[in-house]
Amino acid sequence: MHDYIVVGAGLFGSVFAHEAKRRGKSVLVIEKRNHIGGNIYTENIIGIHVHMYGAHIFHTNSKRVWDFVNKFATFNRYTNSPIANYRGEIYSLPFSMYTFNKMWGVVTPEQAKAKIEEQRREAGITEPRNLEEQAISLVGRDIYERLIKEYTEKQWGRPCSELPAFIIRRLPVRFKYDNNYFNALYQGIPVDGFTDIIEKLLDGCEVRTGYDFCANREELEALAEKIIFTGPIDEYFGYCLGHLEYRTLRFEHEIMPDTENYQGNAVVNWTDGSVPYMRSVEHKHFYLTLETPGTVITREYPSEWKPGDEPIYPVNDDKNTALYEAYIALAREKCHDVIFGGRLGEYRYYDMDQVVLKALELADRVFAED
Ligand code: FAD
Ligand code: UDP
Repeated sequence: MHDYIVVGAGLFGSVFAHEAKRRGKSVLVIEKRNHIGGNIYTENIIGIHVHMYGAHIFHTNSKRVWDFVNKFATFNRYTNSPIANYRGEIYSLPFSMYTFNKMWGVVTPEQAKAKIEEQRREAGITEPRNLEEQAISLVGRDIYERLIKEYTEKQWGRPCSELPAFIIRRLPVRFKYDNNYFNALYQGIPVDGFTDIIEKLLDGCEVRTGYDFCANREELEALAEKIIFTGPIDEYFGYCLGHLEYRTLRFEHEIMPDTENYQGNAVVNWTDGSVPYMRSVEHKHFYLTLETPGTVITREYPSEWKPGDEPIYPVNDDKNTALYEAYIALAREKCHDVIFGGRLGEYRYYDMDQVVLKALELADRVFAED
């Protein structure tokens, strides 16, 4: 018997497992993939820590979260400054004075704001009701058309006019010459990769990889009274109310042993709809030096999720939000010993720091009651 079964060896499950073990609890971690780490998993390929599920940059404003992760890793001073490639033209991201200058030739913040206001007025938007209207009111129609529309529709497989406005509010808009993507107090990349952090968090816990909770439910439920479930909440309930929708990404890794520097930047966003991938990532640039002779590139191809694919992005539209709420109601009614957490369990678009904080707060609550 164990005190807890944690389903999913991603960041949420691993932080919770660590906190439980630290308080003397026995924890069994079940992971259906054949490796730990969930989507932050990194693998060492030709001497480079490759982010196997897309570019991951740690950033946070929370001192508690930053102090916590620094117990398990040394972070470098990497600052994320992606670039957008639209039909061979390069624009600086996030949207900043560099972007406005390249797009319109404007030089001062006042000129940039006037240009955006003019385009917002032409579009007749007062209260933005969807992503398209939100984007045009934030950065004007020209930037929307070249850097947002086709990229977003490629990513989400839906017209921008049918997507919620909050997605685009994740992207900073700065009237400064500053291309630091994340407006965070703390930012960096763990020099030994993210998997190393997860290994340290899970040290002392029994971990079974390649093991699906739902396929072994009866056996596992008999092993502990409490379950922390970080997989998809609809999967836990056997999809009895229907499937939640996700978008997924296929990651193609290309090893180039003889290329020292392929794209000159860690992250390039391909904002033109005719390019089938969204981002290309050159992992060695996360590590600030170019000492290894070769390089590894990962291209991210978006597509509609179907059962069997990795659920990557929850689709937080009205229909899916209502279905998720129905699953939560079911959980409240039927599952008093199961707690749903993390990006899939809560069906939320969480960054790593939010996941760490949520898992720490859950441990605070659960162990305060003990
Ligand atoms: P997951 O990592 O998804 O872990 C859940 C685990 O549960 C998985 O390993 C899964 O296999 C396992 N599981 C599911 N069902 C079962 C089952 N039935 N039985 C057993 N195991 C199961 N955040 C940032 O802060 N910065 C970034 O730059 C950033 N970039 C990102 C880029 C991409 C492409 C993506 C997809 C995400 C990015 N994120 C980023 C977000 C980050 O990946 C998440 O916040 C974090 O990985 C969530 O951790 P989690 O444990 O909640 O979920
Ligand atoms: N986005 C865009 N163009 C870009 C980058 C992002 O239009 O070059 C939009 C897109 O809709 C995306 C949202 O901004 O879903 C948030 O971007 P972010 O990079 O934060 O998303 P993530 O990669 O974490 O999904």
